[in-house]
Order: sequence, then C-alpha cells, then structure tokens
Amino acid sequence: MGESAKNIVELDVNELIKKLNKALADEWLAYYQYWVGAKLAKGPMRQAVVSELVEHANEELKHAEMLADRIIQLGGTPIVEPKAWYNETNCGYDAPMDPKTVKLLEQNIKGERCAIAVYNALLKFIGGKDPVTYEMVLSILKDEIEHEEDLQSILEDIQTK
Ligand code: FE
Ligand code: FE
Ligand code: MG
Repeated sequence: MGESAKNIVELDVNELIKKLNKALADEWLAYYQYWVGAKLAKGPMRQAVVSELVEHANEELKHAEMLADRIIQLGGTPIVEPKAWYNETNCGYDAPMDPKTVKLLEQNIKGERCAIAVYNALLKFIGGKDPVTYEMVLSILKDEIEHEEDLQSILEDIQTK
C-alpha cells in the first residue's frame, strides 16, 4: 500500500472503504444476475438481449475490479467471502426465475436504477475530498447510466413491435 494514497483523502477512510465494499458486493451480484440471465434468456429479441446482457456482465466485472483495486490502494481489504455479498449489497440480487427477455430486462433495469442512485450518493459523500475515488466512481456511474438506457431501448423495441 502506498502511504500517500490514503493520506491525501480528506474523508474517514474506513467509512469510504466500507461504502466501496458495499458497491463491490453490488457489482458481483449484478455480474452474476446478467451472466446467468444471458444463459437462460428466452423469447422476443433473444439474440439482442443476450449480447447486451453479456456485455453488461463484463462491464460489471470491470467495475468490481476497479473497486477492489481502489480499496487495496486505500489500505482496505475487498470482501473475501461471497456470503458477505448478501449482507453488504445495497441493491440486492433479483434471481432470473422467469427467463423471458422482457422480464430479464425489467429486472436488470431495476438493478441499474439502484446502481445509479448508489453511485450518485457516493459522489455526494466524496465531494471534493478524494478526487481519485471520485473520478473512478464517476466513470462507473456513466457506465450504469448507459446500461439503463441500453436495456430500456431494447424493452421499448419489444413493446412497440
Ligand atoms: Fe456496475
Ligand atoms: Fe450496470
Ligand atoms: Mg450496453
């Protein structure tokens, strides 16, 4: 761990690490929800839905990696026990019990809306007090906004057919 990474943060670093770990739990659950949803998808516009879900799964995994790397830079430990994902998550896990594309899209749109709210709140918490984490969270937030839009567009295409 580099000393300065943590020293220049003008926030309670433990509280920041806790929030980053909660977001990490969200990202792993989002990753799996997309990943398994893509395997199971059935119904209208299946191909388009599957490729979007796979793309988003990979992007959620990239977010998990960014969060874990930042937690380590700050002297923390990323969640090491998958069971803790359920305790720490902000947005929960919506199991794709019904594999219909419309249902999967609706579930994942709900998840993206939660992610957008979580990251927006995190930006407000950080303010100007940790520009490095701020910039990382902003870049994740931009992806989540794109995710919501991509899913909603496909849903609209299905519904206006
Ligand atoms: Fe994400
Ligand atoms: Fe997302
Ligand atoms: Mg996309």
